[in-house]
Amino acid sequence: MNFEEVKADENEYLMHTYGRFNAALVRGKGAKAVDVNGKEYIDFTSGIGVNSLGFCDDGWVKAVTEQAETIQHMSNLYYSPVQIKAAKKLCQLSGTDKALFCNSGAEANECAIKLARKYSFDKYGKGRNKIITLINSFHGRTVTTLSATGQEVFHNYFFPFDEGFEYAEANNIDDVKAHVSDEICGIFIELIQGEGGVMPLKPEFVKEICGICAEKDILLMVDEVQTGISRTGSFLCCENYGIKPDIITLAKGLGGGIPIGACLCSEKLSEVFTPGTHGTTFGGNPIACAAAYEVLSRVASEEFLSEVRKKGEYIAEKLSTFPNVREIRNAGMMIGIVTEKDNAKEVAAKCVENGLLILTAKNLLRLLPPLTITYEEIDKGLEILKSVMGE
Ligand SMILES: *Cc1c(COP(=O)(O)O)cnc(C)c1O
Repeated sequence: MNFEEVKADENEYLMHTYGRFNAALVRGKGAKAVDVNGKEYIDFTSGIGVNSLGFCDDGWVKAVTEQAETIQHMSNLYYSPVQIKAAKKLCQLSGTDKALFCNSGAEANECAIKLARKYSFDKYGKGRNKIITLINSFHGRTVTTLSATGQEVFHNYFFPFDEGFEYAEANNIDDVKAHVSDEICGIFIELIQGEGGVMPLKPEFVKEICGICAEKDILLMVDEVQTGISRTGSFLCCENYGIKPDIITLAKGLGGGIPIGACLCSEKLSEVFTPGTHGTTFGGNPIACAAAYEVLSRVASEEFLSEVRKKGEYIAEKLSTFPNVREIRNAGMMIGIVTEKDNAKEVAAKCVENGLLILTAKNLLRLLPPLTITYEEIDKGLEILKSVMGE
């Protein structure tokens, strides 16, 4: 098949939910991908922060294939040593008490919302079930996580939405306080709004939210679906802010390219779910957990994290000398670029034509390179970006 044939079949057989770039990728290694026509690309996306270790990393492939050859699935009605091993590692690395595995970011957030509401129901009874989220946030595409998402563009078509959310302005503590009431059970935040345009919360604001939560037994819930798994130069972005949330959600980078999400909780929530109150057929699947265990074993060492920070700084520094760059917002290898010409979408499309995979978020260019990208791959990608930015 050539690209035109792939495109025609896509048009005929897939629902039209994406505006796609003109590339049909068929294989990859590290931060290099190859398309159906044999053309090569440098990857600054890791599939939206998913392929933490790049394409087809040797250790990751070994972990996944060995697990596939051993036992690929069992129901959650049985004890799964590989799932338990991944949970133990995750709790140890995150300083949380318990994990629940699911299959995506939206599902992890659904779990977080259920957990917060049940905690409050068990302790305070009915009516204390609302959650404050932030304007410009993104929490997923299920009906409830769309409701949680603080952007009006997502609150269309699919009525009725869930009413249990209130939206406060990011970095405006007075607005958060104005929404705090006896009905609130949780405050749910992204520390750096990813889809919202790589917008970091101010440490002061986060600290004040922590204070409100502690004072009123409101749960602090942090969506680390994009920022977690060493993306920002610490294993969790929470560490950059020095906070210990009650609930943390993870997904994207956790499985290194196999679908898996996780909802983590502190000790005070560890017995909130009881048999029958939550569950999933696929969640905690052995292959997904073997993949996650391999990722977790690799990305959290101080040596690895310091490399992520160094590479992130290296990229940001080089970018700052490029034409058409107005502002760079970066934490580790989560990097947003505001362009002078406000032409991120065009730049991204041209980059793909020239052999570089790159993301946008709102009107920004966004880079989420695989954490294992080499300096050689970085330089090659940046060279393409620079020439496109100069056009
Ligand atoms: C991507 C993302 C989600 C949704 O994850 P899915 O796996 O697509 O359901 C939720 N929250 C944040 C912060 C994300 O970046």
